[in-house]
Amino acid sequence: MSGFQIFAVAALTALVVSGLWGALIVRIRREGKSSQEKAAMLREQLVSTRADMEHHRDAVFDAMAEGVMLCELSGKVVFMNRAIRQLFRIPENVPDGITLLEALRLHEVHEVFERTVKNGRTMGVELNPSALESKHLMLNAVVVHDASGKPEGVLLIFHDFTRLKELESARRDFVANVSHELRTPLSMIKGFVETVIDHPSMDQETLTSFLGKVQKHSDRLALLIEDLLTISKLESGQATVNLRELRLCLEISRVVGDLQRSAEKRNIEVSYSVPKDMFVKADADLLEQILLNLIDNAVKYGKSGGKVEVRAMRNGADQVCVSISDDGPGIPSEATDRIFERFFRVDKARSRSQGGTGLGLSIVKHIAQTLGGRVWVESELGKGSTFFFTLKSSAAKDNSSHPPTDALSSAA
Ligand code: ADP
Repeated sequence: MSGFQIFAVAALTALVVSGLWGALIVRIRREGKSSQEKAAMLREQLVSTRADMEHHRDAVFDAMAEGVMLCELSGKVVFMNRAIRQLFRIPENVPDGITLLEALRLHEVHEVFERTVKNGRTMGVELNPSALESKHLMLNAVVVHDASGKPEGVLLIFHDFTRLKELESARRDFVANVSHELRTPLSMIKGFVETVIDHPSMDQETLTSFLGKVQKHSDRLALLIEDLLTISKLESGQATVNLRELRLCLEISRVVGDLQRSAEKRNIEVSYSVPKDMFVKADADLLEQILLNLIDNAVKYGKSGGKVEVRAMRNGADQVCVSISDDGPGIPSEATDRIFERFFRVDKARSRSQGGTGLGLSIVKHIAQTLGGRVWVESELGKGSTFFFTLKSSAAKDNSSHPPTDALSSAA
């Protein structure tokens, strides 16, 4: 609610009260009461109208996200809403006559108050009080006047824009990360191409090796751009989601087949065990991306000569849980949440040398949420990691309460 809207609410309340008041006077006149009776009735009505007014005022202001405080010109607090109590952790039972400085204990706010008393209004003051644990507040203050135009008090409105600041800083970090990630392969490509141009008589073997490197870095660039586009589509909610009933074991076996060559290169055995009659409701392309990313990571980071196992089981009445385990180095506990952030890597050098973009798990998280599920990891350092994700099961055909013995299993 803007300052203008707050004044509009106050003006409207005043109008309603004066209307009620007029109606009461008309009623008293019509009923021909004695003067004492009239006075008592007016008093009674005054008390109840005032209570009603305060109740409505509190209800309106307490429903606002902004913190609102009204102070007399002396600095004495007349009113504060719920948001301001929460923001500054002010208890319910503050003593009557408390001042602005005593209530908020912030000199910056008191200075704004004093400036406002002098100038009539102070707009857009940014506050980042250390006492409020990195909260970012925007303060607007205006002098309010009585009916005769005499200054009566100061209205302070606090807008908490911490979330906006966080988003802004995440966006800045993202742009910096993207620039860095793009610049690295680009400068490698540029370097190799320049060397080839400067040495026209370069022998065939060196030339082939240079061109191979150019190809490797341009593949990395292409992958990065593809991942960035995927993230941007998922974040803006523009990804096409075509929910269909899918037989889970077929989707998993296809991805395991696609990754067989990379698994063989590291001498890793990939196996899966999925009930044959387990169906899920998902988008085939998005499910493939989750599986590709997680199984590929397990192969990439798993122990050379080790094992990767994919399993699926029922999780409650309407969910299926898929797990992908490896016996690789594991993930330190302080990083198990952070690995789902864009560009976060436990081991930067290893990720880059494997051609990783640092975006795979962030894509997985977005897709899992888009499909109505979630993803998480359990890991023990030195022992391995298990990634889990949930999908909506398709109740129509899925009657597997536990992994049955007729599960489709394979060792790739
Ligand atoms: P990347 O392209 O670097 O693989 P991801 O988003 O897929 O990016 O993964 C983020 C980071 O999480 C990786 O750099 C790696 O440090 C860690 N990670 C992911 N999967 C595994 C795993 N199975 N075992 C150990 N670490 C993993």
